[in-house]
Amino acid sequence: MHTNRRVYGLFEECRILLVLCLWVAGFFGSQARAAEPPSAVLRCGIAKADITPTKPVQMAGYSSRKELSQGVHDPLSARVVAFECGGKRAVLVSLDNLGFYNDTAAQIRAALLERCKLEPSELLLCAIHTHSAPTLTLNAGKDHPNNVEYTKTLTTTIGDQIERALKSTKPVSVGARRGYSPVGMNRREKVVEPGTDGQSKESIRLGRNAYGPTDKEVLVMKIARADGTAIAAILDYACHSTSLGPGNMAVSGDILGLAEQFVEKNLGGGLTAPAFAGASGDIDPWFRVVPGFKTEAGWVPEPVLLSTMLGEEVMNVYRDIKDLSSSGPVRTAIATLDLPAQAAPQDPSEYTGPAKVTITAARIGDTAFIGFGCEMLHAVGLEIKHGSPFKHTFLITHCNGAAGYLAPADLYAQGGYEIQTSPFAAEAAARVVERAGAMLRELNKD
Ligand SMILES: [Zn+2]
Repeated sequence: MHTNRRVYGLFEECRILLVLCLWVAGFFGSQARAAEPPSAVLRCGIAKADITPTKPVQMAGYSSRKELSQGVHDPLSARVVAFECGGKRAVLVSLDNLGFYNDTAAQIRAALLERCKLEPSELLLCAIHTHSAPTLTLNAGKDHPNNVEYTKTLTTTIGDQIERALKSTKPVSVGARRGYSPVGMNRREKVVEPGTDGQSKESIRLGRNAYGPTDKEVLVMKIARADGTAIAAILDYACHSTSLGPGNMAVSGDILGLAEQFVEKNLGGGLTAPAFAGASGDIDPWFRVVPGFKTEAGWVPEPVLLSTMLGEEVMNVYRDIKDLSSSGPVRTAIATLDLPAQAAPQDPSEYTGPAKVTITAARIGDTAFIGFGCEMLHAVGLEIKHGSPFKHTFLITHCNGAAGYLAPADLYAQGGYEIQTSPFAAEAAARVVERAGAMLRELNKD
């Protein structure tokens, strides 16, 4: 699977046409806009840019992988959806990247908020958590210069795309619907081993917990222009994009990135399909590539198989979205919570930072998006979604921060990787659930 240059060529052609149409529409439309009741009309602009690294880079996600990347398996993109209603904006950014480690969320956000004149709550800067993308860093003293250069260029590119999306907003109607996918699997595998005292000992390792719970919900939002032309399919699913595993040295969007590409290619028409990673801290793909990448003749590569399954479900759900609404409001909120810290994480990893989580919420009509600057385990996410007053709540992780694993209290007794590396104490998740619920209820008030 390589870049389908023909699709991108068509996209460019559509873009030129779109620019022409926008110019004509803008010329004739200014009178009509002035007469619109501003609070009632929902508007949206979409933008997308290639962010595939052009030089070898350090890839994020596995501390064991020290070498620089070797080539490109499939392209990376930045996708922007900018909503506006009555002067209030909400900008969703989906990046084909691991996340904003090395304190990059604050630095990139500050640059974008200033450049694009956005309020802090109006920007949901999110990553799909692919483990085959460049490490983001602005620390020239510590990290590879190609990564620092990449991160600076990326910040400019995201700013360009946000401006492009905000400048191209037009009246839209939106609708959401849910489907289900088995692509994600609980990864907390119980292992029973004989202890030194003769008693068997239970522990949790990163593996395959085939009977363990997951969040199978696939949420899709369809965005269409007033003439019915669909311009975006937003997808949200809880699964690590790690099917390529730590042995992979090629740049890739992995499962969520490949699902975005699958949906865009097969729905066609220049439609953009930004993905968001749900609460997938303990959810891995159903399987990974065979170590060493050796496959039998006729074997469908795992990332292709799994992303296609997910992409087909997204398309099925998308095609069933019939109930579209063109009204707002657009409302946003942001809060950073100081949470109880775990006294001594057993395995403080490079991802363990201060025990703070930023929550950013946006209401678009009768649908909610709520983003968390941490890696949330699925049970916490389910509790937030179940408690939401909205019919559809797109729960997004790796959004506006990268604070580490946020796990439900009952898993602390079991331990395992997510608990050992978490900066948070057991009671932290309940505080996040409570605050997220309060923010969603506030956004839902008439
Ligand atoms: Zn992860």
